[in-house]
Amino acid sequence: MTSCIFCKIVEGTIPGEKVYEDEHVIAFMDIMPVTKGHVLLIPKVHRENLYDLTEQEAANLFKVAPRIANALKEEFQPTGMNLLQNNGSFAGQSVYHFHMHFIPRYDKSDGLKVEFNTKVEQFPMDVVSELGSRIAKRLQD
Ligand code: 5GP
Ligand code: ZN
Repeated sequence: MTSCIFCKIVEGTIPGEKVYEDEHVIAFMDIMPVTKGHVLLIPKVHRENLYDLTEQEAANLFKVAPRIANALKEEFQPTGMNLLQNNGSFAGQSVYHFHMHFIPRYDKSDGLKVEFNTKVEQFPMDVVSELGSRIAKRLQD
C-alpha cells in the first residue's frame, strides 16, 4: 500500500480528473487550480523529483508536454502558459511524486506571479562565466 497521493491516482484508488494517459505518464486536473485549466503531468512510476528521473522517464514526460500545452491553448485561449516544476520543500514542492504544472495564464491577477529579481551586481559577467565553467565541467564528469 502506497501512501503517495499521486500513486493512488495512478492506481485509481482515489479519484483524479485524468485528461491524458499512456503507458508511462498520466496528466490530470490539479485539485486546487491556480488558473483555469491547471493540469499536472506525472510519471506512473513513483519518483520523488527531477533528480530521480532517468533520462528515458524524463523523455516520456516531456514528449507529451507540447500536446498538453496545445490542448490547453486551443481549449481556453490563454494569453500565455507557465510550466512549473518544484523540487524540494524550499522550492515549493508539497507532493513528493514528480510533477510538472501546466498553468495557463490569462492576466496579471490570474493567481500566479512569476518575478525574476535579477542580481547583476552580485553576478557580473566574469562570475557568471566562472559558474558556467563549473557546471559545464560537472556535466562532463
Ligand atoms: P507542488 O506544490 O508539490 O509543486 O504541487 C502539488 C500540487 O498538487 C498542488 O498544486 C496541489 O493543488 C495538487 N494536489 C495535492 N493533492 C492533490 C490531489 O489529491 N489531487 C489532485 N488532483 N491534485 C492534488
Ligand atoms: Zn507516488
